[in-house]
Amino acid sequence: MKITYSIIAPIYNEKDNLHELHRRVSEVMNSMGQTWELILVDDGSSDGSTELIRELAKQDEHVRPVIFARNFGHQLAVTAGLDYSRGDAVIIIDADLQDPPELIPQMAEKWQEGYEVVYAVRAEREGESWFKLWTASLFYRLIYRITDVKIPLDAGDFRLMDRKVVNVMNSMRERHRFLRGMSAWVGFKQIGIEYKRAARKAGETKYPFRKMFRLALNAITSFSYFPLQVATFFGFFSAGIAILAIPVVIYLRASGSQAFFGQATTLIAVLFLGGVQLISLGILGEYIGRLYDEAKDRPLYIVREAPEESGQ
Ligand code: UDP
Ligand code: MG
Repeated sequence: MKITYSIIAPIYNEKDNLHELHRRVSEVMNSMGQTWELILVDDGSSDGSTELIRELAKQDEHVRPVIFARNFGHQLAVTAGLDYSRGDAVIIIDADLQDPPELIPQMAEKWQEGYEVVYAVRAEREGESWFKLWTASLFYRLIYRITDVKIPLDAGDFRLMDRKVVNVMNSMRERHRFLRGMSAWVGFKQIGIEYKRAARKAGETKYPFRKMFRLALNAITSFSYFPLQVATFFGFFSAGIAILAIPVVIYLRASGSQAFFGQATTLIAVLFLGGVQLISLGILGEYIGRLYDEAKDRPLYIVREAPEESGQ
């Protein structure tokens, strides 16, 4: 069967949101009068979401479950959804209903106008801590500045992508994925539409600070060498200071001044440089570790159960 729209929702312990998600997505999609499928990717849930997904799939043939062998993380869950999707347009949506399914018709309209990526920009966000808002805002701006790809500000993964874009994304098998960056990188005709991001319907965020930090690191290392260049900059900066300091100290000594004498000065200089060197080593390590992960070439995710037909 030819499918027009694929909706992908990654699910990690979202049992209290699933029925509502299914209900709202079905309502919107049925009103659009095109064929559609809802791919629910269970990312190693342990709260009974898995059983619920199977049940939904039994009741409604639009629902296609992809069930992971363990938790692989949000970005990989969405990746699996993309791999299994069959639609001419693919929509990625969070399962906690922070992204309103009711926005899909507007996205589809833009797609029909010829845009190949329609991303949703969070004009307002409800029910989130100031810490999350602040770190998120900082993160988007930092990424925008230092990466070579112009990744739209304040846009999450909630977006519609044309089949052409999805096929390119599916051919990019990098492990440490930052999907919104990848979908900006591919090019094509892109446009943003604004929406109000609602509060989570039920449950807790599945993105603690640790995961947010990982995602930010993946975004930065996948799309820029900036951290490595910072190390180079610090190298030149320290060497520059040293070169300037030598004649100054010679002059001070010759004129009998006691300034910059003693251990404290030496200690500070050594600790400072030692610190900078260790940080640079750590940064280098981040890149090398990622290189190592790519070299191992393990599968991106492991599925326990998946629909027979995939998009490819
Ligand atoms: N999620 C997932 N695997 C994870 C963490 C999150 O599949 O390891 C899913 C989660 O179920 C939700 C989406 O990713 O559908 C976004 O997560 P969340 O709402 O917790 O993030 P936030 O909106 O707080 O940034
Ligand atoms: Mg959420």
